[in-house]
Amino acid sequence: MKCLIIGSGPAGYTAAIYASRANLQPVLIEGPQLGGQLTITTEVENFPGYPDGVEPFQMMDDIRRQAERFGTQFVSAIVEKVDFSCSPKKVWTDDGTLYEADTVIIATGASAKWLGIPSEKEYRGRGVSACATCDGFFYRGKTVAVVGGGDTACEEATYLANLCQKVYMIVRKPYFRASEIMQKRVFDNPKIEVLFEHNTLRLTGDTKVEGADLIYKKGLPDEEQRHIAIDGFFLAIGHQPNTKLFADYLDLDAEGYIKVKGDTPCTNVPGVFAAGDCADPHYRQAIVAAGSGCKAAIEADKYLKGMR
Ligand code: NDP
Repeated sequence: MKCLIIGSGPAGYTAAIYASRANLQPVLIEGPQLGGQLTITTEVENFPGYPDGVEPFQMMDDIRRQAERFGTQFVSAIVEKVDFSCSPKKVWTDDGTLYEADTVIIATGASAKWLGIPSEKEYRGRGVSACATCDGFFYRGKTVAVVGGGDTACEEATYLANLCQKVYMIVRKPYFRASEIMQKRVFDNPKIEVLFEHNTLRLTGDTKVEGADLIYKKGLPDEEQRHIAIDGFFLAIGHQPNTKLFADYLDLDAEGYIKVKGDTPCTNVPGVFAAGDCADPHYRQAIVAAGSGCKAAIEADKYLKGMR
């Protein structure tokens, strides 16, 4: 086959639209989370073309059907193993099938890290979010908490402070990990209250998040429990790119993101391209992922025509 795409988020589906229109007859392996990370948010309001917002499954189904219209073949399976040392490249799925492809577009995304407390799963989509840019708007005028002390947490807290009446930051250490400039923005913002040396024990509320039980100075003699009333709980403790499968063949950065050449989707293996959040530690937006999926398909086509 000419082109195999791995991943069913905006990057994978957009790559499929372009690859199928370029007559690469792509096969797309959809993976464990159909529609990608976006489907864990409540509503998408910032993707161009939907003036009234759109339900995430609807949007992903729209993009999928667009790719289907031009002949993309979809496979509901999970990739278990790859071999990029040969040509064509080999990809095995969990149903035992071996796919051989001249080009592979990796669009496996990233997964937000979760704290692992039981209530965060229970309230996912009902007050718990891992993306302030996606969901912050629903908390206008409300009180929210952001967990984490890195640049993402500071950025998200500052973003939320523009919308919300109050933002708590729950930071497990007595200091931030974030850069000085991001810390300054937080400290200078009167709407943000930083709770250093706090950990979250559980979230409370009947059908949605209404509060959080925290523990201060866990394990120390002056340990103390406290409760905060909140409407939203934003996790910002980092993301994990879904790239482990490719580590033997592709250059990854220290955090596991696939390294690409400049602003192209080209990896260190000719014919293997990376698109979307698996290669993007910075933006993590559906529209950016879709754009990079388009680039990956164009590059795959060029490669097949001997232009790369
Ligand atoms: P980081 O890994 O930098 O920070 C994660 C934060 O979450 C840390 O404060 C960490 O605490 C905390 N944390 C991790 N696990 C837990 C847990 N189980 N409970 C409580 N807290 C926890 O991730 P980021 O997403 O913030 O940043 C990733 C990279 O992206 C960084 O290199 C960052 O600089 C970059 N970035 C840059 C931006 C910019 O320049 N504008 C914006 C956003 C990200 P601890 O410190 O105790 O380990």
